[in-house]
Amino acid sequence: MDRRDFLQAVGGGVLAVTSLPEISNVFAAKTERMPVLFIGHGSPMNAIEDNRYSQGWREAAKKLPKPKAILSVSAHWETEGTHVTAMEKPKTIHDFGGFPKALFDAQYPAPGSPEFAKQTADVVDLTKVGLSQDWGLDHGTWSVLMQMYPKADIPVYQISLDATKAPEYHYNLGKELRALRDRGVLIIGSGNIVHNLRMMRFDGKMYDWAPEFDEKIKTFIEKGDDMGSVHYEKLGSVANYAVPTNEHYLPLLYVLGAKDAKEKPKFFNDVLDMGSISMRSVRFG
Ligand code: ZN
Repeated sequence: MDRRDFLQAVGGGVLAVTSLPEISNVFAAKTERMPVLFIGHGSPMNAIEDNRYSQGWREAAKKLPKPKAILSVSAHWETEGTHVTAMEKPKTIHDFGGFPKALFDAQYPAPGSPEFAKQTADVVDLTKVGLSQDWGLDHGTWSVLMQMYPKADIPVYQISLDATKAPEYHYNLGKELRALRDRGVLIIGSGNIVHNLRMMRFDGKMYDWAPEFDEKIKTFIEKGDDMGSVHYEKLGSVANYAVPTNEHYLPLLYVLGAKDAKEKPKFFNDVLDMGSISMRSVRFG
């Protein structure tokens, strides 16, 4: 019996079904299930520039239902253990150097969500999730949200990347976070599928390995081959170039875990920037 049959069987008789164990799932699903997004964030300047990437983010936001809260998995918060920000007022962290004053002046004063932080710790069985008062919103989060939700009126909290764990852990943690989508939480992974800052180039040319790796991951995503994405290291030398360190790649694995197997990817901003950064972004749901 699928969900529709189930609802037909009970004939809309809400009272009749309260004894069935599935009831909480059925009615959680009736609330709007939030989509889940991976955003290729690239340069922090995208926070304040009107360019093709920031336009893509704004367009994506327009098509989304309004979330109750946003959970960001940012490339820029690496910890030992897994933590969520649990403060009422997360500070805007300017975790970069060498950019114009206007970027350091930028503030994203969205409230936090201690309540959803606690709920997140509750839905995760894989590990004990720490409630952090120390972090805030780093630029992996606010550079994107400043464009998507400029009013900063939706509560935002982050979950950290446990730098001691293998890629599969991050994917499995994403699966556990999926339940939050039925509670109105928009999960955003913010990183870059291809991210090699040491090989950025400004001559408009491209390395072979950058589009090759990007396309291979795209194909895994299209085919629903999540293990292909999780075990990206098997792609060999192209992976070594595209993912020299994996903190920008891992947020994608949370998104792949949090999607439903039936949900098909919708790609946007699928271009390479400065030869070695993939801005490819994807929405499920
Ligand atoms: Zn970054």
